[in-house]
Amino acid sequence: MSEPRNIKKVFRSKPTVEGAGVRLRRAFGNAETGLFDPFLLLDDFRSDTPSDYLPGFPWHPHRGIETITYVLEGDVEHGDSLGHQGTIGAGDVQWMTAGSGIIHQEMPKDDAQGRMYGFQLWANLPASHKMMDPRYRDVTRQSIPAVTNDGATVRVICGEFEGVSGPVHDIVTEPEYLDVTLQPDTGFVRATPRGHTVLAYVIDGEGEFCRADDPFAYDVQGANYFDTERDKLLGNRTLVLFDDGDSLTVSTHDEPVRFLLISGKPIDEPIAWYGPIVMNTRVELRVAYDELREGTFIKHG
Ligand code: MN
Repeated sequence: MSEPRNIKKVFRSKPTVEGAGVRLRRAFGNAETGLFDPFLLLDDFRSDTPSDYLPGFPWHPHRGIETITYVLEGDVEHGDSLGHQGTIGAGDVQWMTAGSGIIHQEMPKDDAQGRMYGFQLWANLPASHKMMDPRYRDVTRQSIPAVTNDGATVRVICGEFEGVSGPVHDIVTEPEYLDVTLQPDTGFVRATPRGHTVLAYVIDGEGEFCRADDPFAYDVQGANYFDTERDKLLGNRTLVLFDDGDSLTVSTHDEPVRFLLISGKPIDEPIAWYGPIVMNTRVELRVAYDELREGTFIKHG
């Protein structure tokens, strides 16, 4: 029998300082290790103040993960130690598989209005793929299909919506990454594979993230949060983690809503995480940091 997903937990993204002093908001990260498996972290670095983001993320390593950068306004200049170089522009996605290791820098730049609106998601890799060769999928705005149906407009970055597939394929954890906009008074129902982790991060407007017939069944950080009709509407910078089920429902009232809808198959392996390197064991972490010191970290290229 089909079972709709309820809300498991609601979070507000928290101010965090990263890189060389970038002031961003973290929706989830290593304080929530395991809870979002296969995802590790979601950072929201949207800002209208260049001093928040221009310090950037200078040279740093990654191993054992993928970083998925989605830029809405402004640019992120990217370069790595193997000589790859490029710009992630407004509407573009960089899906980077660090695998065995890259050393790179990511430098956000403002647009003409001083804006930088971007998000970075970290997806874990299973033990079998942590040491794979690094690879990049540079996805341009034009190659991301936008599908409109019944009041919903969905940009499909990875996965499928209404028979339209996104440009990113062959990712081990079978992720879906959709950018969904709903008009006012719209109901959106989405089938979701049972057992997969599903989260929604609201980036504009407000919406109700549940099935409408059971609005008080949520467990919201232990509190009975949804006391009134009004409280059911979740707005900008709110993160929803769903319980298991076969589908989810999002509905709007007077306002539109825009959210990132992300899902993936849990890896269910031990996580050893320090900074930008995520392995399965502490020994593997120590090896990675020893290799960085000794200059043997890069395995490919
Ligand atoms: Mn990075």
